[in-house]
Order: sequence, then structure tokens, then C-alpha cells
Amino acid sequence: MSKGKNAAQKLIYECGIVDPTEIPLELIVYGRGATLVEKPLHNAEGRIVFGNSKSIITVNSNIEFMGKRRFVLAHELGHFEMHRNLVPVHNDTDATLEYFKNGHQETEANEFASELLMPENLFISECENKKFSPDLLRSLADLFQTSITSVAYKYFELGRHPVCLFYSHNNTVKYWKRPDDYPYFINSRIKLPPPEDSVAAEFFDNQKIYSRAHSKQPIWKSTWFELKKYENDNDFKFYEYCIITPKYNTVLSIVWEE
Ligand SMILES: [Zn+2]
Repeated sequence: MSKGKNAAQKLIYECGIVDPTEIPLELIVYGRGATLVEKPLHNAEGRIVFGNSKSIITVNSNIEFMGKRRFVLAHELGHFEMHRNLVPVHNDTDATLEYFKNGHQETEANEFASELLMPENLFISECENKKFSPDLLRSLADLFQTSITSVAYKYFELGRHPVCLFYSHNNTVKYWKRPDDYPYFINSRIKLPPPEDSVAAEFFDNQKIYSRAHSKQPIWKSTWFELKKYENDNDFKFYEYCIITPKYNTVLSIVWEE
């Protein structure tokens, strides 16, 4: 088990938390001995400063969504639990809060936050017998009171339906993930713009953001995946749902086949 997940499970156990969706995060932070401050931050969503006697966690008061705020707070609590005395200050931008790797301490803090807010066994049982859709991710984000992005990564890891993730920033694909046993190969576009017929490209080219009701968009397999010409491989329908953060000009594309 990862260090972050393990530390979160230990904390849940030590605090005697029965229903993690009712976790009063602020009380846990105080109970563990850190001080929480909320104020506008200019270059960060969250920050932790380790002092000799006190550690101060600051959460950007301009964060718009409650679920995002909770994920940031849980991430900083992860640094507090696991990374005391390693570096005096962690400054967390939106990018470090993304699940794609950004140094192992950031990965550990994200794994911690993910497990604290969405414990594995509960997440799996909530996905049971439910068809994958953007609405499923939204309802999980509402239930666990966390960011939709963190739910998408958790679903990638534990969900029942295989999905692929593509993360783009400033019209450039930065990372992608596919399940280990996924039957299709991705056209790697790292450092290139997203495919021109992708939903991500519609945002970067035309600022198109689909409404909730239309957020599941049909695309083609060939949009993101390789077609093997020599095997008579047929193109067929896929779907793409984009989680767009206009403020940071980022798009997380979730791509799946039904
Ligand atoms: Zn961090």
C-alpha cells in the first residue's frame, strides 16, 4: 500500500472516524496540533509552514468550490502527517494538487487526501452496479465532498469501468494514463496540442465548455487511440468528458468506450 494511503487509514483509525463523509477536517487539523488560516493566496491554493513549535496550514480563501477546498486542506494535512521536518515550507499550486506526479512528497500528499476523503472500500461500494458517466463522478464528488478531479483519479484507480485520462495545459498534452491491461494504444501526444477532433481541443481552440447535460461527448476511437491499419481495425465510437479549469487553462479529459 502507498505511504499516503497508509497514513490516511491510520489517521481515520486513530481519530475513530466511522463515517468519513462526515469528517470535520478542521477539527482534525486542530486536534493534530496544526493551526489553520484562511486568507487569499496569490500563487498557491494551499501552503504549510513548519515552525519550531507550531505548524501553520493556510488555505486560499478564494477557492470557489467547497470540495476543492477540502481536498486542498486534506493535502496539507498529509504534508503535516508525513513530511514534518523534511522541508520547512510546502507551497501548493493547482498543478501540485493534480494527481499526475510532481515529486514523491506531492504524490504522497495527494494519495493521503484521496484516501482520507474517499476511503477505498467505501468508494468501491459506491461504484458498485453503477454505469460510468460524468453524472456518476459528480454524485461521488457530492457524496464525498471533494473535488471532481480527485474523484476522476480515484475512479481511474478503483472504478469498475476502464477509463483513460489525458491532462492538457495551455493547449499542450502533459500526461496521460491508461489502465495496465487496456486493449488500445494511445497516440502519444505529449508536448503536442490535443487531437483536433477532441473535446479538449474545442476548449483550447474555441473556449467551448459543454453544459452539464451535454458533458458526455461522442468522439472516435481514432481521436486519442492508434488504429492498426494492417489489422483492418475499425474506428468506432468513444466518449470524452472534460473537466475544465479556465482559471488555469487546464483540461482533464476522461475518455472511455461503452
Ligand atoms: Zn503539496
